Amino acid sequence: MAKVNQTPMMVQYQKIKDQYPDAFLFYRLGDFYEMFNDDAIKGAQLLELTLTTRNHSSKNPIPMCGVPHHAVQNYIDILVDKGYKVAICEQMEDPKLAKGMVKREVIQLVTPGTQTDTGAGNAKENNYLTALTQAGNKFGFAYADLSTGELKVTSLDSFDAVLNEVMSLQTKETVVDQSVTDDVLEQLKTVGILISHQDEASVKSELSYLTQDVEAAEQLTVLQHLLTYIVTTQKRSLAHLQRAVIYEPTYFLKMDHYSQRNLELAQNMRTGKKSGTLLWLLDETKTAMGGRLLKQWLDRPLVNRKDILSRQKKVSVLVDQYFERNSLQEELTRVYDLERLAGRVAFGSVNGRDLIQLKTSLQQIPKLQHILNELPETAFSDIYQRLDPIENVTEAIESAIVDEPPLSVTDGGVIKDGYDKTLDSYREAMHNGKQWMAELEASERKITGINNLKIGYNRVFGYYIDVTKVNLDKLPEGRYERKQTLTNSERFTTPELKEKERLILEAEEKSTDLEYKLFVKVRELVKANIQRIQNLAHAVSELDVLQSFADVSEKYRFVAPTFTKTGHDLEIVEGRHPVVEKVLGRQTYVPNDVKMPEDTSILLITGPNMSGKSTYMRQLALTVILAQMGCFVPAKSAKMPIFDQIFTRIGAADDLISGESTFMVEMKEANEALSHATANSLILFDEIGRGTATYDGMALAQAIIEFVHDRVHAKTLFSTHYHELTVLDKSLTHLKNVHVGAVEKNGELVFLHQMQAGPADKSYGIHVAKLAGLPDSLLKRADMILTHLEKTQDQHATVQVATEDRTVKPEPQPAASSPEVIDDEEDTQLSLFGEPEKKLTKADKV
Ligand code: ADP
Repeated sequence: MAKVNQTPMMVQYQKIKDQYPDAFLFYRLGDFYEMFNDDAIKGAQLLELTLTTRNHSSKNPIPMCGVPHHAVQNYIDILVDKGYKVAICEQMEDPKLAKGMVKREVIQLVTPGTQTDTGAGNAKENNYLTALTQAGNKFGFAYADLSTGELKVTSLDSFDAVLNEVMSLQTKETVVDQSVTDDVLEQLKTVGILISHQDEASVKSELSYLTQDVEAAEQLTVLQHLLTYIVTTQKRSLAHLQRAVIYEPTYFLKMDHYSQRNLELAQNMRTGKKSGTLLWLLDETKTAMGGRLLKQWLDRPLVNRKDILSRQKKVSVLVDQYFERNSLQEELTRVYDLERLAGRVAFGSVNGRDLIQLKTSLQQIPKLQHILNELPETAFSDIYQRLDPIENVTEAIESAIVDEPPLSVTDGGVIKDGYDKTLDSYREAMHNGKQWMAELEASERKITGINNLKIGYNRVFGYYIDVTKVNLDKLPEGRYERKQTLTNSERFTTPELKEKERLILEAEEKSTDLEYKLFVKVRELVKANIQRIQNLAHAVSELDVLQSFADVSEKYRFVAPTFTKTGHDLEIVEGRHPVVEKVLGRQTYVPNDVKMPEDTSILLITGPNMSGKSTYMRQLALTVILAQMGCFVPAKSAKMPIFDQIFTRIGAADDLISGESTFMVEMKEANEALSHATANSLILFDEIGRGTATYDGMALAQAIIEFVHDRVHAKTLFSTHYHELTVLDKSLTHLKNVHVGAVEKNGELVFLHQMQAGPADKSYGIHVAKLAGLPDSLLKRADMILTHLEKTQDQHATVQVATEDRTVKPEPQPAASSPEVIDDEEDTQLSLFGEPEKKLTKADKV
């Protein structure tokens, strides 16, 4: 135990800690990782550990807490999941052999973006580390997934574009250099991203191949910062990192993250979980890597006709070939996460069981090939080519590694008998030695006449002959050397036994050493094939996503959409919102057409609240996304142009960049659409203008519609509760009215959820209010005001009329002195219509 604060150990600790001021330092001390000082105080709290002190007798005891080394991963995961960094500091030499202070070094800095030991629950999610450099409005942007080796880079020309990337990648950590402005850093922090500074950029020459294809200066710089950060934090082999791929966000259907959220593609708005989303519906993948690729495809639907049709063709084949699809699924179930296995091979953290998983996976590949061969079409020939069984790896593992290896790779038992002659001879020696012991036990029992004489072994004393105390007098004098005395027995040895023991232990040690060497050799061979494994992993993931598309398409009665070659003809017959349909049940869901021929760019949708307007709009967006992912779509038939972008303004987007009113956000999103949409875009505007006063909102809505109509020409669905707007079809030739049907039955409103041509004739607001349970007399009163309003068409005048009307025929007033008989309804009327001024503004906002 140390006596004062500045023991040599604490000096060493502090020196290391100073290099990692923003991380928890896990300092290895024997069987524990210890934290000290502030790390200990905060760590104890976050990890629910007992806070103790080192040298508590001194004036300034050092706060301390620790975690046992075998459970360290759990604790690291907890901290990193909470957004912290952990520096793992190891003993670099055997404390027993060390002269003076044991040498210690940080062997890895685990951060939210570089965590690779993600639990089984996250297998279907990527963990992306992103990086950013900035020059004015130009950004270099790169990202990597360390567990799979994926590396991508691009240039972006606005912060919004950056935000879209980080949001859809769901990154937790971004590496930046000094070029990035404080303003940008603040905004990234607001959306919960951990910022890591990496000002130097020096990539070792052995990693330079990674940036080989990159030319643009900002892309090269950002990659170098990213790689430098990875190298300095990981301090381990990065052999599995794949050469950086340059991607253009414009190669894909563009959607901002608001739209991705609003449409609930991968995240349920209420729960933040996957359940109830399009991803949830689509995910019938059988492998973790397929699951991750599906999410990537969903984030980036295609815009290239040929690529879309190539996927769609494969889906068609698998939809038709039920039997083959089923067998594919069965074989895929046996394929493990090849991408992450490749990562572990590179990191050197692969064990015997991992290799068996790799072998099992590779053994499925010829079977997958065989099934693809059975398919009638050649659609899969490219995937077939890429299904590389990597036989040399399979054979190496098969011949060397036992079928059920232990977790540890250093304690032996990993390598098969017959694989290596020397190993076999050591094993034989061990075996013979043990045989010899058994024989010795038998012969010594005979000679001494002690029947319970035993030969035993323990780690400290080695082999011994055990004679119980009561039998000691039977032992011939000087036969054995005394070794150890226990309560009930004495333990002995002999020169012969010692010699045998030496041979056995030597063989054992040599055997485990050799086994480890042989294991490493197999591992190195696998490592030399990492790229092939990764290429194979890509092919398998694609196959998996395609079979999932086919499975879902058949299960939910999807059809293959067709794409117009030129022009913007859109016709969905009996389209459905697949997720709402799944939740409500097939019987309940009412399919709807969307008909927007070449000359129709805007559908103005009216209808009561809760009738299905926004479901209708989302349904179209999901149909477009599914189609452009290469999947079938939920409809009876579907024809559409290929869209370049989707803009949505649906529902209340609770703005992440706070401090703005909903109306402001709404206008910003509208502006985003109006300024970036093209004639090939899809715009969904749900009740734009609702957030302000009636005339104001209506005027804006009309101006927006006219702008889209005259200048943007994008296919646009515009839902509104302003009935006044429905007359626009007279002046705007490309605008059509549709409405959601509802019928009144015995004074009750029945939603049909059925889209019909033409404008809705009534707003049904009062009926909805009735469904919501508002008092009868209030509803009657609203009905009366509505009748007046409808008669005069002038809101200002009519409200007054309505008020006058009311004051002419007042309801019986209750006595002011008996509060118990004042009814609520009277109260409401008074406050709403008591004084003309107030009443006007209120009415305006209704
Ligand atoms: P609005 O936007 O008109 O207020 P929503 O689109 O939010 O209405 O739909 C309200 C509810 O009506 C949905 O939650 C859903 O349960 C149901 N609904 C919507 N469209 C359909 C449909 N086509 N068939 C059956 N039910 C529907």
